[in-house]
Amino acid sequence: MINDCSDLLNNIDRLEAVSETGLFGTEPEAAFTRLNSLATKILKAPVSIFSLIGDKTQFFKSAAGFEITNKTNECPLDLSVCQYALQGKPLSIENTKNHPLFINNPAVQAMNIVGYLGIPVVTKSGHAIGAVCVIDHKKRTWTQEEIDILQDITASFISEIELRQAITKIKNESNLREEFIAIASHELKNPLNALKLQTQMIQKRQSKGKFDLDDNQKFLSNLERQTNRLELLIDDMSDATRLSTGKFSLNKQSMSMNQLVEYTLKNLEEVLFKADCSVKIDFQSELEGRWDSSRIEQVLTNIISNSAKYAAGSPIEITLSKKDNFAVITIKDFGPGIAEENQELIFNKYGRANESDAIQGLGLGLYISRQIVEEHKGTLELTSSIGHGSSFQISLPQSSLAVIP
Ligand code: ADP
Repeated sequence: MINDCSDLLNNIDRLEAVSETGLFGTEPEAAFTRLNSLATKILKAPVSIFSLIGDKTQFFKSAAGFEITNKTNECPLDLSVCQYALQGKPLSIENTKNHPLFINNPAVQAMNIVGYLGIPVVTKSGHAIGAVCVIDHKKRTWTQEEIDILQDITASFISEIELRQAITKIKNESNLREEFIAIASHELKNPLNALKLQTQMIQKRQSKGKFDLDDNQKFLSNLERQTNRLELLIDDMSDATRLSTGKFSLNKQSMSMNQLVEYTLKNLEEVLFKADCSVKIDFQSELEGRWDSSRIEQVLTNIISNSAKYAAGSPIEITLSKKDNFAVITIKDFGPGIAEENQELIFNKYGRANESDAIQGLGLGLYISRQIVEEHKGTLELTSSIGHGSSFQISLPQSSLAVIP
């Protein structure tokens, strides 16, 4: 009995898994064709095909005994036999000529498919993405041993697909790392160059005997600013490494969020003043809880200084409220906003929405911030649209029994 599989065919996760193989629509490749050829030889069948099944067509990725060209590499699903192999079990048909599903199928007639054996190609995540089949031009009863052999060959197709995906993942990660190293060296060089310049100027002035107390003060505070910037960049890098290696721990204490917000804003006074950002605070609730105050300060500092950086010249609104045992801190700016397609990306490691070099950053701040909030079993969400500013909402449980609303 063959079941209807239309639900399965249109399943979004299944289609995503097909697309993740990166194989749909690509040329036949020897690594797969060799396995098809092996199947025809061992099973003494004239044809073997490996197909991926999309939502509209069956795509022939590789075959033996059947020539795949740009014209013959796809067939519409209503002509597909392999779609019925997606059900998860081997599909063995002795004779399509007396099978009600295939009797009037022109593709079956054109390819002279009589005996058919198909094994689903199922990914690690459990999605049936296609099938490996062998076809005979005459009636054929498939033995259990033959089914087992084709299952083993299909397992090799799956290993090949997984291997390729692992290589692509490693390549992408390595590209990301290289890109990060380039950005990081650029970012580290900025404060370093400034430090170098300042020291040279001090030396020059001293050698000319033109160095007074005012100069001393000015240079020292500049040096301090640049070393602080360097320290922050290095801290971000080591936090990111600690987070990805699972060596990150919190030091929770009872604290007041209202006081921490005030303290953070005091520390950011100069940054906010320079960015011409006024801050409006709305303390709707007194928020007490057990949190890691220096880590939460890091989150607040990152989000508020991002607003100063990306939304300079516009006001920032900070609201503290309570919702279902959660402390909710909302930081809203009226800057350029973040495009919808970048709204998740910016929380990724090294994720930056703005490719321009004009604004500095490692793309680590929001990644670290979300991890810190999630370590507290809370959430950090963004609402934004281009031209209408960005609003970051931090929700932190006030008691360890709180459940995310
Ligand atoms: P960065 O160090 O690059 O600022 P973040 O992780 O803090 O790293 O931010 C990631 C990206 O998110 C930024 O590069 C920027 O493109 C975008 N972004 C963050 N905050 C804002 C904001 N308030 N307005 C517009 N874009 C923002």
